[in-house]
Amino acid sequence: MKVLKSSAAEMRLIGGRLCLDFVNTVDGRKSDSPRRKSQSVNTLVLGDKLKDYSDLVEWSRHSGIITPTEAGRLIQDSKRGTTEALAVFQRAIALREALYRIFKAMVTGRMPQSVDLETVNDELLKARNHERLINTQKGFTWEWIGREAALDRMLWSIVHSAAEFLSTADLSRLRECGGEECGWMFEDISRNRSRQWCHMQDCGNLAKVRRFRTRLRSSSRIKR
Ligand SMILES: [Zn+2]
Repeated sequence: MKVLKSSAAEMRLIGGRLCLDFVNTVDGRKSDSPRRKSQSVNTLVLGDKLKDYSDLVEWSRHSGIITPTEAGRLIQDSKRGTTEALAVFQRAIALREALYRIFKAMVTGRMPQSVDLETVNDELLKARNHERLINTQKGFTWEWIGREAALDRMLWSIVHSAAEFLSTADLSRLRECGGEECGWMFEDISRNRSRQWCHMQDCGNLAKVRRFRTRLRSSSRIKR
């Protein structure tokens, strides 16, 4: 587990994809993965960076999917519609955890659970209701409609990113950080597919220190 990671608006975005950075909005994860392939992935979130709707908005602004102006308006609107904001927040966490379990299944060679895929598809359906093909001077492009009034607009971009990643990316490049109780996900785009850590300054250095201590212990044992 990484310690003292900054708040939602200052988190490192190291996943290489929006959907992976979204799954990484936790300090760490304690894995309780069963050995049998048929069983689902159980993990415990350590230090959740998304504690309420405003954290979700702040992270969305930080990751660039909404502008600072949009973020300000969403916070204002959420105060008028607290029940709806809470429902969006709960959907966001359900989506994040479903995505984590799907990605974890991919990394460990398991089949993802259909209930998790359903969660993603439900969100995808909601997002696609807001997608329109428009013609611009530069050609046809996709545009989100109804953004202004929607408290859940960030979820559209996140689930879109997840669907694109799962359906078009080389999933053999998907990795979970090797750090103890980290659980962060990233796309390894290094040429020799050798990236092990979410960030060298976090888990990479911790692992180095741990290896060094182990070596020291074993060499002192040999001397005795
Ligand atoms: Zn890590």
